[in-house]
Order: sequence, then structure tokens, then C-alpha cells
Amino acid sequence: MPRLNEGQAHPTAIGQRYRSGITFLQWGPQAVPPPGESNTATGGHGTETEIVKAGIVTVCGKPNAGKSTLLNRVIGQKLSITSPKPQSTRDRVVGIHTRGDVQMVIFDTPGLLLPKYALQRAMRANAIKAIEDADIIVYLVDPNDGSAPSLEKAADLDRTPRAPVLTVFNKMDLLSDAQRANLLDDTPDAVFVSARTGDGVDELFATVAARLPESPFLYPDDELSTQPVRFFVTELIRETALEQLSDEVPYSVACEIEEFRETGTPVYIRAVLFVERESQKGILIGDRGSRIREIGKASRVKIEALVEAKVYLDLHVKVLPNWRKNVHALQRFGFRNPDGDGKR
Ligand code: GDP
Ligand code: MG
Repeated sequence: MPRLNEGQAHPTAIGQRYRSGITFLQWGPQAVPPPGESNTATGGHGTETEIVKAGIVTVCGKPNAGKSTLLNRVIGQKLSITSPKPQSTRDRVVGIHTRGDVQMVIFDTPGLLLPKYALQRAMRANAIKAIEDADIIVYLVDPNDGSAPSLEKAADLDRTPRAPVLTVFNKMDLLSDAQRANLLDDTPDAVFVSARTGDGVDELFATVAARLPESPFLYPDDELSTQPVRFFVTELIRETALEQLSDEVPYSVACEIEEFRETGTPVYIRAVLFVERESQKGILIGDRGSRIREIGKASRVKIEALVEAKVYLDLHVKVLPNWRKNVHALQRFGFRNPDGDGKR
């Protein structure tokens, strides 16, 4: 059975589940383990003397703090897309980390910012909802931004979150001892990590685990996420577009799967990249199709690693005018809280 011990996710966890045809559990009340499938059955936990803990750990913070890098580090596998460009994460991404008697359902969230249009409002609403759902909040701060404002201030919340907030400074690989001491003066309880190198992540795990509620596991212990493979495929294609495009174009890109045929070899995936204007379409396609070909090639390599099978990726480009300002378009792209106003 794939395990997630010592921060090393079983490298084939998704591929095995994918090939064996097991669809991921969906988040919601129905996700509670079915009767008879107790923790004893899934992992040998839950005996009378052991304390089993489980809960939702929401990672939130400003854009570019390293939230998605941290999720991937804890899970030990690339689940959430990362980028030096801000606002790469648009929807909540779920990673499940089970180690020993502790299960963390980790919510990676879009960066907190003041929204200007429908997409950003949906992004903010997703982050706020994840903060409300949390048992523990990991408030991740990039120390290059200076000392941390309170989460309430950073997120413009109108009330204190229900769950305890742990302030975590990321990117400690870039900090001198003196800088670290200064930050600790301001925030004595802060934890320091480097999501990039993994330093401090075990300590963070222990600190979070200590504060999780006693609870049976919420998911089987080999489950990696609650979101379907298709979602991760669209994210990987979007990440590749973020890598290969500059300026404003990548922010206007959305990805949709039109067909996903997994019976044959290779797996056939037809996906569409949507942009907002004809001029962006031209940039995305490139000179005689060179750009879209490159994006397709690089995306295919990532998708093959995810599903552990050969993939034929049939990638198209379409225009959906001003989709970022359109609630119906957000609905179509599967956003949670598409008409979120970002207020509580
Ligand atoms: P998010 O917007 O908060 O999800 O941030 P990302 O995870 O996408 O990371 C933003 C940028 O910060 C990327 O270029 C990451 O490689 C970088 N980054 C993340 N964690 C660290 C870290 O611990 N150290 C350093 N030096 N860079 C990091
Ligand atoms: Mg992110």
C-alpha cells in the first residue's frame, strides 16, 4: 500500500490509483469513511490506547509566500503548481498527508489580496472559506516582505478566525541569523521553514500535529488528494503556460479538458487553453504553432509522470472574451465559490 512516511510520498501513489481505476474521494459529507472501514482497517490505528489525530490544516498567506511549494514538500509529490509569478494558485488544492497516527488534510489556497474582478473575488472567497473550514491555520509569510502583519489584517478579515493561527516564516534559506532574531522579537511563537530545502518542515509537522483534534482519519491512509486527476492535469498545463509565457498573457489562461480517454494506449487527452483576446491567442500559438507545441510537449511530460502512462495530449487554443470577469465562465471552469464576494 502506498505510504507517505518520512515526508516521502510513494512516488506512484497517484499513478497506481489512476491505473486501478479508483477515483479520488470527493470532499464533502459523503467522504466520511464508509461503515466498517474504520482506521483499524485502513492503517491499524485507532486502538483503545492510541491517540489518533486528524483535521484540516489550511495554508494561507500573501501571493508568492511559498504555500504551494510547502504543500508539495509535505506531501512529497508535486500536487500544487508553483511559480515565481504571483497568483498561480486559483482554487483550493487539497493534499492529504498521513504519518503514524496523524492525518492532515492540507488546504493550499490562493494568495490573499484585494480582489478587483470576478476571478480574484472567487480566489479570495476560496481562501476565506478554507480559513473558515480549518482546524489549524498555517499563516505563511515571506520574510522578505518584512515582519508579519496579523492574518486578520493581511486577509482583511472582519472577525478572528475560529481555528488557532500559527505564523510560519518561509524561505529561511535566505535569512541571516540576525534577520531571524529580529523576526522572533516581533513574533516570538513563529516557526521557521524552508519549503524549498525542507528545513524545519518536520518541526512544523510536529507543532501542527500537537494542535490537531483527536479524530479518526478522514480518508484512507494512502489517499493523496480529494480532487480528481483531471483537475491536476489542467493545473499542470496551466503551470507550463505560466512558465513559457511572459507579461500578462499567463494570467488570462484557463484550461479545460474536453476529452479524457483512458481505455487505450496512449491515454488520449484533448484540452483547450482559453485566453481572453485574439492577440493573446496569437502569442500562445506562436510562430507557425511553435509555442503551443512546446507547451504541449512540456505539459505531456508532466502529465505522464502524474498518471504513469504514455499520454497523447491534443492541445487547442480558444478565445473566451474577458472570461476572468465573468461568473458563468468561472462556473464552467469548475471554480468553487465562482460568485464569491470575498466577504464573510
Ligand atoms: P504561493 O503563491 O504562496 O503558492 O508560492 P509558490 O509556492 O508558488 O512559490 C513562490 C515562489 O517562491 C517560487 O518561485 C518558489 O520557488 C519560491 N519559494 C517557495 N518556497 C521557498 C523557500 O523556502 N526558499 C526560497 N528561496 N524560495 C522559495
Ligand atoms: Mg500557490
